[in-house]
Amino acid sequence: MVDFPRSADNARSADFVVLNGTILTMDGLGRRASGLAACGGRIVAVDSDRAVAEWIGPDTQVLDLGGRTAIPGFVESHNHPEFFGMTLAAQVDAGSPPNDCIADIVHRVEQAVADEEPGEWIRGYRYDDSLLSDDRHPTRTDLDPVSPDNPVSLTHVSGHFCVANSAALRIAGIDDTTPDPPGGRIARDSSGHPTGLLLEGAAFMVNSIVPSRGGDEAVEALRLAGAEYARHGVTTVHDAGIGLIGGRAGLDAYRTLTRTGGLPTRVHGYLFHELVAGLDEGTPEAPDPAADDDHFSLSGVKIVADGSIQGLTGCLAEGYTCAADEHGMMLLDPDDLGRRIAALDAAGWQVAVHGNGDAAIEAIINGYERLGVEPGRRRRHRIEHCQTVREDQLDRMAANDVLASFFVKHVYYWGDRHRDRFLGPERARRISPLASARSRGLTFGLHSDTPVTPVPPLEGIWCAVNRITRNGDVLGREQTIDVDAALRAYTIDAAYLGGEESSRGSLEVGKFADLAVLSADVTSVAPETIRSLTVDATVVGGNVVHSTSALAPTAVVR
Ligand SMILES: [Zn+2]
Repeated sequence: MVDFPRSADNARSADFVVLNGTILTMDGLGRRASGLAACGGRIVAVDSDRAVAEWIGPDTQVLDLGGRTAIPGFVESHNHPEFFGMTLAAQVDAGSPPNDCIADIVHRVEQAVADEEPGEWIRGYRYDDSLLSDDRHPTRTDLDPVSPDNPVSLTHVSGHFCVANSAALRIAGIDDTTPDPPGGRIARDSSGHPTGLLLEGAAFMVNSIVPSRGGDEAVEALRLAGAEYARHGVTTVHDAGIGLIGGRAGLDAYRTLTRTGGLPTRVHGYLFHELVAGLDEGTPEAPDPAADDDHFSLSGVKIVADGSIQGLTGCLAEGYTCAADEHGMMLLDPDDLGRRIAALDAAGWQVAVHGNGDAAIEAIINGYERLGVEPGRRRRHRIEHCQTVREDQLDRMAANDVLASFFVKHVYYWGDRHRDRFLGPERARRISPLASARSRGLTFGLHSDTPVTPVPPLEGIWCAVNRITRNGDVLGREQTIDVDAALRAYTIDAAYLGGEESSRGSLEVGKFADLAVLSADVTSVAPETIRSLTVDATVVGGNVVHSTSALAPTAVVR
């Protein structure tokens, strides 16, 4: 602990002071400091240790960084907190790890069934066919022997598919004669019987009838997820689809949590478009900024245009490498998409549209382009994932002020398969083309899409800087960006995506005192080691919401 004289003037003392560190402010000039002081949750000084020490009074909480590095708290620009929290509380963790094969998942389902009464639903999450040694999706034939009397739904790690057992299919009314729903597909075997695998809109046929979890379950899910974000230095999360899983209860849960102070991180929300009143008729309700506060704001709407590349549902202009006739699927007709974008824009909403395949991205850009450019107005509409965006499309995005949130962790988690199976080497090396986007001055954020991939933003920065795949190959070195640019995409530029750059994203006087304390200076370590840094403390509004034994509790003194 550095010993500094305490302020005699209580009127000038801060609630919270940080000192003895390297503080990367991420301001426009790239300034660094060693100390920071905050009052009422906002920064009042970013300066030398000696200067901020003058803010220390008898009631000031002081965090001695002991030479560590503090950065603005991470702004994660596309996540699904409610869905993530549900996976943390799930009866069955179907992910890999821990499961190596379908038999492992079936064993977990069997254990869950043993804990429930007959007839109770069993929910599992995160299964990933591409990481199972069987190299296929589970089927109802796998699940039925251990769950004859309990309906089972296992949701894919992408959130785009689920596998139902026979009991669940029966309750959902899905049999040999059921037609595919719009924007969805029921997988069938060679005899025409449903296999249990339900794609896109068909997955909704089962997930929508899983008994209501009620408001409390949504609140609990958000609380669980919030604690995980705090653990990884995330201080603002963009919820890319409030209500996507549990309907309007998700929005109610946020309002409840902000009223009771139960949300450890701030959330910037995008309401799932099907929940926007009046949108189907072309006269959507307007956003209500008066309902927002410092912890939760809702100013955007999320639309999903296509599916996922690894599920062959991402909508591509040229066919998949492994299935030349397969181009994926649009979940919305392009004209309908354009109408929705125009109506939401006119009502004052920011729009964020999920687009993985370049054909879907084309439809989204067309929709945004038709809005035209209004002098003096920056609309900040977004494209989510933007995985196979082409160079000509990046030109049009830059010309129309369209922002991107890139899912760069795809390079690590699925890059090998994209290259070898789904897209071929040329398209695969350009997935998440961050350097191309940067060269056009496009503002972008990065994201983990949790629960699709794990939360840590440091892993995302590592991916953006190194582009290393699971197999250890480098995929598209020319699309790597430098650490500073990657850090911006997880702080100030991501704040810009949410229209909140005046309150967060950099450490400047007047902004929220939201910080992540890292074990070392991310800008000076060897780039390949970035993901092994630890987040030793997280601060939201001048309150320490997470700290490791390396930093606490002795360094936090009153
Ligand atoms: Zn998502």
